[in-house]
Amino acid sequence: MFEKMLFPLALLLTAMASISYFYLARPMAASANNGIWQNGLTARGLAGYALGFFITGFYVLLYWFAEHLQPLIRAMDGLSSFLRAGPADQWFLYGTLYTFAILVMGVRAIIRYRHSAYQIWRTAIIMFSQLFLAYLIPSLLKSLNQPEFYFSYFWPLKPEYLFPGTVAALVNHPGGMGLFFVFWAAVLTFVATPILTYFFGKRWYCSWVCGCGGLANTLGDPWRQLSSKSLRSWQWERYTIHSILIIISALTVTLWLNSFLGGELLGQISGPFARGYGFFIGALFSGVIGVGFYPFFGTRLWCRFGCPMAAYLGLLQRFFSRFRITTNGGQCISCGNCSTYCEMGIDVRAYAQRGENIVRASCVGCGICATVCPRGVLKLENGPARERWKT
Ligand code: SF4
Ligand code: SF4
Repeated sequence: MFEKMLFPLALLLTAMASISYFYLARPMAASANNGIWQNGLTARGLAGYALGFFITGFYVLLYWFAEHLQPLIRAMDGLSSFLRAGPADQWFLYGTLYTFAILVMGVRAIIRYRHSAYQIWRTAIIMFSQLFLAYLIPSLLKSLNQPEFYFSYFWPLKPEYLFPGTVAALVNHPGGMGLFFVFWAAVLTFVATPILTYFFGKRWYCSWVCGCGGLANTLGDPWRQLSSKSLRSWQWERYTIHSILIIISALTVTLWLNSFLGGELLGQISGPFARGYGFFIGALFSGVIGVGFYPFFGTRLWCRFGCPMAAYLGLLQRFFSRFRITTNGGQCISCGNCSTYCEMGIDVRAYAQRGENIVRASCVGCGICATVCPRGVLKLENGPARERWKT
């Protein structure tokens, strides 16, 4: 038993050491650049590339060669028996490391942005959401022989929750909770998402609940300045993200049509289509590239160029929301901190210089631009929709 707890114990000690390091060695004032462009780890130096290749390699092993991770997976057996009443597998190992990274680096983010109540609350909710909604509750459900359901993910980010096969499996699962899970997934996608986005913009999900955004804003925070601000990136992001939303919508409709038609007309197409989506978008893009490439291209590569949920929320935010960032142009000293630290590649300074409201589909409302502005120029607001476009 003691041997089985060694790995979790090692994680705990690593967490304590990391927090001590960040607290003692880097007591950062958030509005300063803190040498990010001089440090190889955060400025695409040798250390940054080494770390990027290490994380990418881990994801490749996790998705396609998990047998090489067996020693690590077995070391998680004790924790898995305790939380899930069963042995660990590669996804339990992944979930544990993922949660661990968000918790440790979440503490680091709170320390870093400690002068901002918005950032403290936001990071605390991110940590809570990952720990309970995406780790402890699914584990508890598994230990009770219920489906391992994640309350913080829904269509189109977790598209299978509205696929006919998954819906049938959940509804028919003994215990009766499956029907509630299907209800939850459908209501969150089609009712709660439009309503919450109308009032708060996409930030309620992308910067407060979603695990992908949560990891980007905690583990990925040291690399947020690497996001490309070029016009070409903005053009590409609009093509790719909306194309993926169209693909997943078409796939979902196809699968339901196929289900209603008894699999006779579309059965040959829909299966490989779903597997292709799972491989290229679900594994390769969101996992390997989305996280492994943090030290190369910044932290929101997946959110900017691949996430269909971000596309759905972005359309709502652009055309049907009260959210905007207001700018007090007269106070701007053009230091560029806001643009440097925008993880979505938005040239915030250009808006601030013109005193123009920022109403962009891609803005995830992380609020870091406002937090690092030394002049208090930027303010995240949920005002009346008719005044959003004001300059
Ligand atoms: S514009 Fe500001 S709030 Fe929006 S994503 Fe960029 S840094 Fe975050
Ligand atoms: S808005 Fe603030 S952070 Fe951005 S350039 Fe102006 S003064 Fe600097």
